[in-house]
Amino acid sequence: MLDRASLTVDPVLLGAGEMLVDLGALAANYRAIAALQPNARIAGVVKADAYGLGARPVSATLYNAGCRNFFVAHLVEAMDLRPTLPADARVFVLNGLAPGAESAAAQAGVIPVLNSLDQAHRWADESRRCGMRLASALQVDSGMTRLGLSEPEVDALAGDPALRSHLDVILLMSHLACADESEHSANLQQFACFETLAARLPEAPRALANSGGAFLAGFGLDMVRPGLALYGVHPVEGQSGPLRPVLALSAPIVQTRDVPAGTGVGYGLAHTTERACRLATVAIGYADGWPRSLSGRGSVFCGGVRAPIVGRVSMDSIVIDVTDVPAEAVRPGAMVELIGPHQSLADVARDAGTIPYEILTGLGQRFARRTLPA
Ligand SMILES: *Cc1c(COP(=O)(O)O)cnc(C)c1O
Repeated sequence: MLDRASLTVDPVLLGAGEMLVDLGALAANYRAIAALQPNARIAGVVKADAYGLGARPVSATLYNAGCRNFFVAHLVEAMDLRPTLPADARVFVLNGLAPGAESAAAQAGVIPVLNSLDQAHRWADESRRCGMRLASALQVDSGMTRLGLSEPEVDALAGDPALRSHLDVILLMSHLACADESEHSANLQQFACFETLAARLPEAPRALANSGGAFLAGFGLDMVRPGLALYGVHPVEGQSGPLRPVLALSAPIVQTRDVPAGTGVGYGLAHTTERACRLATVAIGYADGWPRSLSGRGSVFCGGVRAPIVGRVSMDSIVIDVTDVPAEAVRPGAMVELIGPHQSLADVARDAGTIPYEILTGLGQRFARRTLPA
């Protein structure tokens, strides 16, 4: 990749839009979640490059805010992040380890989440090879049916002192399937199931809650594991406080044109203008993660004025109707707001028929990235 920092040209002039990550808002969100759960440690879930926002700056900011426990999905992410953080940070691998990856993980000093009896045996074997009990988290399946030991596996582990003696379990965890629906009966069922299974295992700190669970009273236990809420999106659709948005996204206008009624626009000529109007082409497309499902749906904002997306989303551009926007806000090079004060990430996800997680983790690599310091 081109080293943009070494260039004398404004990165935004290089073509693609700008992704602004507000690390101050991230730190404030960390503190807001800590205030909701005063008895729990607040971990940071930074998988998928911190949901596309940059695992390194995000993790460093969280560390400075007091975070010491970090979760990624894959070993490759943990090995990338571990050396960038101080020694007292712990980096957990949620998906656990593929057979054969144990010694690489042990050497890297990362902590696997053991999700099956087989993973537990393989990590115990690695401990024997190393001559020391290696730290791990143990996940039990409390009802989501995705990752974690089943009840018979919990009993098998509990009844195997030799296996247990080679495991240093520093966290017992499970994961909620319906935490974004506070009234869902599965939440209390999973809580009870987790308690029952945890009681059969050696004592260790317990963690059940993701962002949704962090907003449920009584689900904090010893540690909560928020991702999305740290990045400023409330887990319950339609709610926002006390979280601050972390991401702003904008892209430049490339070209404008005035066209008569009846003009076809974009691929498939899927849109036909109903009136004489002014159109602008904006440098963002599905290759940047601006979803193609926004074809003919949703809007952007020019100088604070709504401009609807017309026609299909292309790979590298969209066309917007700027007839109602003052001319100075639509000159070539002017930036349009895709995500910002007038339009939240949750708004875009709703218009696109998806969830904020998918928008965030799908954002492309071409944006000029700028951070506001914490
Ligand atoms: C991704 C993930 C989280 C974080 O989820 P959010 O909804 O983003 O807070 C927490 N725990 C586990 C096990 C996860 O996979």
